[in-house]
Amino acid sequence: STPGGPKAREEKILVTVRVRPLSSKELAQRDQIAWECADDHTILFKNQSQERSSSQASYTFDRVFRPECLTERVYVEGAKDVALSALTGINATIFAYGQTSSGKTFTMRGITECAVNDIYRQIHNNPERDFTIKISALEIYNEIVRDLLKPDSGPLRLLDDPEKGTVVDKLIEETASDSQHLKQLIAVCEAQRQVGETALNDTSSRSHQIIRLTVESSLRENTGCVKSFMASLNFVDLAGSERASQTHAEGARLKEGCHINRSLLTLTKVIRKLSDGRGNSSHIPYRESKLTRILQLSLGGNARTAIICTMSPALSHVEQSRNTLFFATCAK
Ligand code: ADP
Ligand code: MG
Repeated sequence: STPGGPKAREEKILVTVRVRPLSSKELAQRDQIAWECADDHTILFKNQSQERSSSQASYTFDRVFRPECLTERVYVEGAKDVALSALTGINATIFAYGQTSSGKTFTMRGITECAVNDIYRQIHNNPERDFTIKISALEIYNEIVRDLLKPDSGPLRLLDDPEKGTVVDKLIEETASDSQHLKQLIAVCEAQRQVGETALNDTSSRSHQIIRLTVESSLRENTGCVKSFMASLNFVDLAGSERASQTHAEGARLKEGCHINRSLLTLTKVIRKLSDGRGNSSHIPYRESKLTRILQLSLGGNARTAIICTMSPALSHVEQSRNTLFFATCAK
């Protein structure tokens, strides 16, 4: 890219943190609230007396959402700009990152619904353009990709297309007729994901779900000058972040035979490389996992990225919350 050009400036990744309320389980165990949202950008560890002096106690982000904050607000301040960029032809990805039970699925479902409503509102307000929205959805479990729009989908292969980059072979893509239809298709994906969950215990903590909207747009009644484009908007509900931490993969869990999650670990490496700004794309290890291969064109480069880091406020989860905040800090 040319220095000073409109696309030369690397868009930094939008990083926000959402703290969920204490769960009923945490309340029943008389767990303590360990974190305080000091202002809209800062989260503090409350009980500093228990701290080893080496541990950081205060973290700053683009936005910190308190437990009482509604998803609509999280959408507007943590995802909207990134989501709508797809309507201007820019690929985009919105992630939820955090330990299991921190609120990733809760947040992504809400964000996806808000985005769908917003997208159709924008399309309605933009009568001079034609838009087509398509949806595909997949799950990655143990580096195996399956189709969430197809019941009992077998493993799907990744192929390298010279023009489109990495494509998922035989992945179903449905065209949505309107926002209701799109929401129905999203509900199908979610039901499909739950089928897998009951079949194999604990899959949701280990699997990644991607809902991909493809936006195709052209100017209506264009006069010779065809300004059409296509862009992807990805909603990604990641595996539990405890799967990325080397220390947790050793010891007990390694004996159980569950190894570290390759896609999650590679994603954290890719995000770190992208955010440290020395963005020479050839050194970014997209090729090392299925997740990052599938998302490559929607991650870094000219694509926009939002990461919503979710965490429990509980003292009992402080170690994992700290890992999440550390990842979030590296992603900024
Ligand atoms: P994860 O997907 O990270 O494992 P979930 O999204 O399933 O976590 O959330 C765990 C539980 O906490 C669910 O019962 C969910 O409804 C609840 N929860 C998560 N975030 C919130 C929130 N911001 N407000 C209220 N309840 C929440
Ligand atoms: Mg989940």
